[in-house]
Amino acid sequence: MKFSDLGLSPELLRAVADKGYDTPTPIQQQAIPAVLGGRDVLAGAQTGTGKTAGFVLPLLQRTVAADGRTPRVLVLTPTRELAAQVAESARVYGRYTNLRTTVIFGGVSEKPQIGALRAGCDILIATPGRLLDLVDQGALDLSRVKHFVLDEADRMLDMGFIHDIKRIIRSLPAARQNLMFSATYSDDIRDLAARFLRDPISIEVAPRNTTAERVEQVAFAVPKEMKRHLLVHLFDHGASGEGTWHQVLVFTRTKHGANRLAQQLENAGIRAAAIHGNKSQAARVRALADFKDGNIAALVATEVASRGLDIKELPQVVNYELPNVPEDYVHRIGRTARAGSTGRAVSLVSPDEASLLRDIERTMRRSVPFLPTPKFEVREPKPPVSRPNASPDNRGGSAPRPKGPGGRLGSRSRRSGRSRRSRNAF
Ligand code: AMP
Repeated sequence: MKFSDLGLSPELLRAVADKGYDTPTPIQQQAIPAVLGGRDVLAGAQTGTGKTAGFVLPLLQRTVAADGRTPRVLVLTPTRELAAQVAESARVYGRYTNLRTTVIFGGVSEKPQIGALRAGCDILIATPGRLLDLVDQGALDLSRVKHFVLDEADRMLDMGFIHDIKRIIRSLPAARQNLMFSATYSDDIRDLAARFLRDPISIEVAPRNTTAERVEQVAFAVPKEMKRHLLVHLFDHGASGEGTWHQVLVFTRTKHGANRLAQQLENAGIRAAAIHGNKSQAARVRALADFKDGNIAALVATEVASRGLDIKELPQVVNYELPNVPEDYVHRIGRTARAGSTGRAVSLVSPDEASLLRDIERTMRRSVPFLPTPKFEVREPKPPVSRPNASPDNRGGSAPRPKGPGGRLGSRSRRSGRSRRSRNAF
């Protein structure tokens, strides 16, 4: 499915292309045609699903020509931050139209907002209190509103806006299109929906967990003792043709495991650091800064240490070991695909973890596909120099091969001087 399949105008498609989106999100795929068709919509969708473009794009299209007088689209949001964000989206998506977007919210002077409304407004984004103030003062005329959006309705009710909302709805023209977005459904939300939506199309995009929807998740089957070698291979080659990995958050179950893996990655020539509860705050801050700056490619973290890590648009996370609790998996993968970018979570799953993966899949109501495990090389630290027969000329597998998959070979790796050999995981 492409944006051009949704019936959007060339001006809007151009703005979408400028943003670099190539695929509409599930909410956009469903909401855009419904809104373009004039239907009322009740959507269960949280921030992060792309819901804003899901209503802004079709409403820009339905508003067609600007006449720059009084608003024909009204979007109510619970907070000024969200109002500002929605207004920014409307401006960005509407950049090749001549529609005018105005945002009004409390806590700042009314004057510039009144001025902006007088100058002409097609699309109005507002928080309820300031909107009513301006209506009461006669500075805002809602009589030409044709499309009404209640964004984050559940939060509005939590914040005690129900009476304001009812008042605002009463002051709108009867013939209009209504859209309501809510992350959760309480009886109050259902009552409100029943009160003002007419024969709505219901759209539910993230019944349990938005993160799980947004993150591409894959797994590799690999024996426990081979995981570190596969991980090194993935850093070098990527998981499916995307090339070298540069910034990856790797999860281990234990602090000791985090330290050990960071060291093993370093030994393989991959800049790595561990963060966990035993590290000093200063060490954690430094590791995080190095990671964000791109000085280290792998940040190896335990569950607890990862909470609250603020790393924007992390391309991928790796579950070096699966967590025991499925909810922890969801938290972990939530570190990627922030701000709507599509991130990826790669899990290295050993046979003993199969049941953990099943629990995770059951919780997410989604399966995690296995990719074919690539051929990877096993690198082990070079034998100590003092060892008899250890010589740089001892190449190409002529050295005695210790039994087991972690065996050493004499051939040197280009990058780190470690020995390598190629083998398959299973
Ligand atoms: P929202 O859920 O509306 O707050 O959107 C979350 C983020 O997703 C915003 O940063 C948007 O810019 C981004 N976004 C919206 N639609 C798409 C899309 N089709 N592809 C990629 N990113 C998107």
